[in-house]
Amino acid sequence: MDKICRYTTKEGVRMAVAVTRDTVEEARVRHDLSPVATAALGRTMTGALLMAGDFKNEENVSLRIQGDGPLGVVHVDAFSNNTVRGYVDNPHVDVPLKYAGKLDVGAAVGHNGDVKVTRFTKLRQDYTSQSPIQTGEIAEDLAYYLYTSEQIPATISLGVLVDTDQTTKAAGGFLVQALPDATDEALAQVEANINELGPISKYLETHPDAEGLVERVLGGLTVEKVYEGDVRFQCTCSRERFEGVLMTLTDKDKKDLLEDETTELVCHYCNEKYHFTRDELKQLFKEASQPKS
Ligand SMILES: [Zn+2]
Repeated sequence: MDKICRYTTKEGVRMAVAVTRDTVEEARVRHDLSPVATAALGRTMTGALLMAGDFKNEENVSLRIQGDGPLGVVHVDAFSNNTVRGYVDNPHVDVPLKYAGKLDVGAAVGHNGDVKVTRFTKLRQDYTSQSPIQTGEIAEDLAYYLYTSEQIPATISLGVLVDTDQTTKAAGGFLVQALPDATDEALAQVEANINELGPISKYLETHPDAEGLVERVLGGLTVEKVYEGDVRFQCTCSRERFEGVLMTLTDKDKKDLLEDETTELVCHYCNEKYHFTRDELKQLFKEASQPKS
C-alpha cells in the first residue's frame, strides 16, 4: 500500500515522504502510458501529493505543467485525503533516452512553459499562481514554483523507476521545507545529507518503501513523525456527474447524440468509460426538460 508520512524537527525543518508505486502503476495501466509518460505523470502525481494538505490544512492541489515538449500538458489533482488523479495529453510519447537508460522527462515535458498551481478547499475560493518551467524534470520546477510564488524554500526530490517490461518498479519522493525559524546549522546539515543521498530513483531501487530515507535526510536533527496516511489513485467522476453534463447540452447537441445507438463518454482523468443507450439518453433529456415542481 502506498503511503505519505509527514515529520517535523526541533530545528525548524519539515519533511514529507511519499511512496507511490501502486498509484503510479494504476495511472500507467489506466492511460496505457509510455515509460517516459509514466515517469512524468508519476513524478507530478507524487509532487502534488506532497504539496497537498501540507502547508495549509484540508487543501487540495491541482498542477498543470504546460511545456513545449511532445507530451503536452500534464494534469494532476491531489486531494487532502491523499487520493490523486491525473493524465497527460499524449500518453504514448517516446523520446530518446538521456544516458545509461535514463528516461528524458525534461525532453518529453519541454524546457519552456509554465507550472500552474491551484490550491482549493470546499469552503474557500481557488487560489492560482504560476511560475516558468526550469528543466521540465518536474521536481526542480515545483521547488522553483514554491519558492517564487509561495515564498516557501523547499527541496523536492521525485523518482519513478520503470522496469524493462514497462511496469512501475518503484516510485516516490520527498519534500523538505525550511520553516522561518530553521537554524542555519540544521539547513546545512540537511543539505549535506541530501547531497550524500544521491538521486531518489536510485535510492528507491534498493529501498522501494523508502525505508531509512527520513533518517538519511534528517540525520543529526531531532525528528518527530506527525502524520501517516494511505495514498491511492482515485477519480471523482461518476455516471451521475456525466448525466449532469449531458443534461446541460444544447437542444442541437442533444439531437445529435440521439442519432447514435449508444454514446460513450470518457473521463480524461482516469480513462473510465461511461455508456448511454439512446433510450437512456431520451429518458435523461425528458427529465431535464420537465418543469420543476
Ligand atoms: Zn474519472
